Amino acid sequence: MTVLVVDDDAAVRGHVSSLIDSFGHRVIEAADAEWALSMFKKYRPDVVLSDIDMPEHDGLWLMRQVREAEAGHWTPVVFLSSLSRAEQLAEGIDAGADDYLTKPVHPRVLEAKLRALRRMRAMQQRLVELSKQLEQTNERLQREVAHDGLTGLLNRRGFDQALQNAIAEARRRQVPLTLVLCDIDHFKTYNDHLGHAAGDRCLQHVGMLMQGLARRPADRAARYGGEEFALILPDTSRSGAATLVKAMRRVFQGAALSHPASPTAGHVTLSGGFVTCVPDANTTAEALLLRADEALYMAKRNGRDRYFSFEGEDSRSQTGVTVF
Ligand SMILES: [Mg+2]
Repeated sequence: MTVLVVDDDAAVRGHVSSLIDSFGHRVIEAADAEWALSMFKKYRPDVVLSDIDMPEHDGLWLMRQVREAEAGHWTPVVFLSSLSRAEQLAEGIDAGADDYLTKPVHPRVLEAKLRALRRMRAMQQRLVELSKQLEQTNERLQREVAHDGLTGLLNRRGFDQALQNAIAEARRRQVPLTLVLCDIDHFKTYNDHLGHAAGDRCLQHVGMLMQGLARRPADRAARYGGEEFALILPDTSRSGAATLVKAMRRVFQGAALSHPASPTAGHVTLSGGFVTCVPDANTTAEALLLRADEALYMAKRNGRDRYFSFEGEDSRSQTGVTVF
């Protein structure tokens, strides 16, 4: 260990330091509290062994400064004082010191205390390591809980949270938010013809394409259900959304994932519904999803491989635009 020894009495300091040195530890010395503090910041010792009575700042001052300089850490501070100052030692312990030694320092006691402090130090480090591991595990679990294992996209749970956040953000900034809900056309037929392993690969491929479409940092792609996918597009107007779904359709045309059993096209196609709004106090995720789902249904009904969006903000309106 590295031990910082602080005492204004050079004889005491020298004696304690040579003892600690003889126990095989590294010693740094300081003759006053301010000097000690700068040594502490520079060398980050494992233990501070400090006299309480010192001119200018005393040992209690030093301890408070040390605690302040190492937020989140805990370097043991051991006070040195004469037995006749028992009251002062008690005050030091109350103020947060970890231990004390009485002068004159007995070598055996000093050695034993340093051993105990080293055990404490090792335990503390183990604790820090464990809490780091725990934090990492926690982060991984948080991620897994919000993501779909097959595609790596947000899962339903992650999507719900992301949509809530996006609505709140768009409401706060009073900017449009677009939600696209889509569904792979004839996916059941795909599975029936090519098997479930191929079906999974198809979902992965579609997931990749969806992720590629969520290009801006705040865009989110999700696997909403079995073969349903969703895009959350903040700051996207209705015309911007129309341009994007048109591009989506081209992306799937270009990717040309073979779908030999599709009555719609030779490749995997999507049908989608999209909804754009500037959220107000009454906007809910459920209402947006319902509207997008109704629009998706219209796209399916009107022939698939297309996107539909209802006209205007009126939720009763049944007219809309189809984007190919
Ligand atoms: Mg002194």
